[in-house]
Amino acid sequence: MRLLARAPIMLGMPIRELSPAEALARLQAGALLVDVRESHERELGMAQGASGVAMAELERDPSAYVPGADTEVLLICQGGRRSQLVAENLASRGYRNLASVAGGTTAWEAASLPMMRPQIDTDFAERYSRHLRLPEIGIAGQRRLEAARVLVIGAGGLGSPAAFYLAAAGVGTLRLADDDTVDRSNLQRQILHADARIGMAKVASAAIALSALNPRTKIETFEERIGSHNVERALEGADVVIDGADNFPARYLLNDACVKLGKPLVYGAVHRFEGQVSVFDAGRQRGVAPCYRCLFREPPPPEAAPNCAEAGVLGVLPGVIGLLQATEALKLLLGLGEPLAGRLLQFDALAMRFRETRLAPDPDCPVCAAERDFPGYIDYARFCAGA
Ligand SMILES: [Zn+2]
Repeated sequence: MRLLARAPIMLGMPIRELSPAEALARLQAGALLVDVRESHERELGMAQGASGVAMAELERDPSAYVPGADTEVLLICQGGRRSQLVAENLASRGYRNLASVAGGTTAWEAASLPMMRPQIDTDFAERYSRHLRLPEIGIAGQRRLEAARVLVIGAGGLGSPAAFYLAAAGVGTLRLADDDTVDRSNLQRQILHADARIGMAKVASAAIALSALNPRTKIETFEERIGSHNVERALEGADVVIDGADNFPARYLLNDACVKLGKPLVYGAVHRFEGQVSVFDAGRQRGVAPCYRCLFREPPPPEAAPNCAEAGVLGVLPGVIGLLQATEALKLLLGLGEPLAGRLLQFDALAMRFRETRLAPDPDCPVCAAERDFPGYIDYARFCAGA
C-alpha cells in the first residue's frame, strides 16, 4: 500500500468510497467532512458536522481548509460524483488520506443520519424546491418573493394567467383590483374563473382559484373600479404593478400614478391575434426609461381601439401575454436578468413571430420628463374620449 501511495498519482485514480454510516463513524473519530456543493444547495440541508466549501473554492486553495496532506478528509456532495472529482483533484496535489461519501447527501439523508436543516418549513421547501435549486433564486430569492406584493389590475384575460403563475411562484401577497363579475363569455380565456362561479365577483372567484393553488399566498381583493380617487390606495405597498386593464382611461391613469409613485408597471395588451408587452419604469428611472405616454402620448380615437368585447380575441393570446408579464414581474422582484424596460415586445400569433422595438423616453413627455413636476390626475374618461 505504501508503495502504491508513492506511485505517480493520475487523475481518475480510484478514490476510497465510504457509506454514509462509515463516514459518520470516521467523522466522530476526528476526520474532516467537507460538503463541496454550492452554497444554494448546502443551505437546503447538510450532513451534520460537515463544513461547507464549494468545489471550486476548495480546489483553488485546499490548504486554507485542510491542515495537512495526511489529514483525513471525507468529501460529500449531492449524489457522490462531485466529491469523487474533488478527491481525485486533491489526491493529484499530494493529499493522501481522502475518501468520498457514496451517494452523497441524498444517501446520508435516506439513511436517517443527522442533518443540519435550514430554518424553512417543509411546505416551503417542497413547494418551491425547483426555485430553490436555481442559484439565482435560492432561499433568499424565494423569501424575497414571499415578502413581495404585486398589484394586478384586472382579474380578466391578462390578470388570470399572471396572477395564477405569480401565486404558484410564491409571491406572498397578490392584490387583485376588479369591479366586474364573472360572465360566461369570459371563460374562453379568463382561466382563474369557473363555470360554477358565473355571476360571482371576479376578485372573489379569483381568490378561490389562487388560494386553492397556493394557500401561502395572501389575496387582497380590491373590488372597485380604478379611478383618480382610489388609484393611490390601490398602489399602496405594491412592489410591481401588472396592467391587465381592458380600457384606455385605466391604462393612462395607472401609468401616471406609477410614474408619480415610482412603481414599475408591467404593461400588456391584446387585440384579436396580436399582443404586446413592455415594462414602464420611468418613475424610478427618470429620463432613462420611458413611460406609456412616451409611447402613446394620446389615446387612439375610441372607434380605432375596440376592446375584446367588440373586436374579439383568440382565447390563448392573453395567456401568452399575461405570462410574459408575470415573467417580467418575477424578474423585477428578484432583480434578475434584463427587464423589458425601454423595449416593446410585439407578438403575432398567426405568424408566430415576436418583434422588438426600442423605446426611448420622450424628453417632452407630459408626465415623466426629467425635472417635470407631476401634473396631477386628469379626467381620463374625457381624455380618452378625445374630448
Ligand atoms: Zn413618459
